[in-house]
Amino acid sequence: MEWLALSKLKNNWQSQIHIYYHRIRLVFAQCDLCGNATQQQTLICSTCLADLPLFKQEIIQGDLLNWPAVNRSLPNIHFDHLFCLSPYLAPFNHWLSQLKYQGRFELASLFAALLAKKWLETQSISSVDLVLSVPLHISKWQLRGYNQAHLIAKPFSQLLQLPYQGSALVRIKKNTSQVGQTGTQRRNNLANAFVLPQPLPEKVKHVMLIDDVLTTGSTASEISKLLKCKGVEKVTVITVCLTLPKN
Ligand SMILES: [Zn+2]
Repeated sequence: MEWLALSKLKNNWQSQIHIYYHRIRLVFAQCDLCGNATQQQTLICSTCLADLPLFKQEIIQGDLLNWPAVNRSLPNIHFDHLFCLSPYLAPFNHWLSQLKYQGRFELASLFAALLAKKWLETQSISSVDLVLSVPLHISKWQLRGYNQAHLIAKPFSQLLQLPYQGSALVRIKKNTSQVGQTGTQRRNNLANAFVLPQPLPEKVKHVMLIDDVLTTGSTASEISKLLKCKGVEKVTVITVCLTLPKN
């Protein structure tokens, strides 16, 4: 009985601390961009939110492949749709590097919330069967300690109430620098870089593939090729930023 009472007391203290922590965060929350106090958003204020350099999804019907400049820069791709939040510009470029190299995990939740909101404004989720994230090779994952694509994909799928399999895809070949490589060299380096250790359920026909940035599209395309060999019919690639190679 004494143990039970102590355990209850401990749980009460833990829940109180949790509540106070969040109250303090809300009271003292400052916008990550302008420094102004914000109570509604813990990371950015409504003014900075409205100023973010987001793609105008309504013009391109929620698919950047409809935009000729993007379409022409991504030849030979195996995915069907491309949905990105923003060009690789401030503040997203700084935020992405802070998530990737400084472990600012709260930014992954911000990206997930913005992506889910924008997706729902222009798209339906009724046809999506599964969400996957671009995996890191185990050596890179071990070194970094986390996979930023997974950190974005998990809350994103939860917000859209879609099933997510964080370990369905595995990268078995290490990354090599893509700088200065031709499209063919990049594709050769990525050939057979990914595997699906377990077969996907038969009903999975439309997959959303999440990554932080899309540059050449080679990685997303290689994974899409693999998924299509395994029965998937449609792949929608979703990233926070799009930065096209200067050809
Ligand atoms: Zn602000």
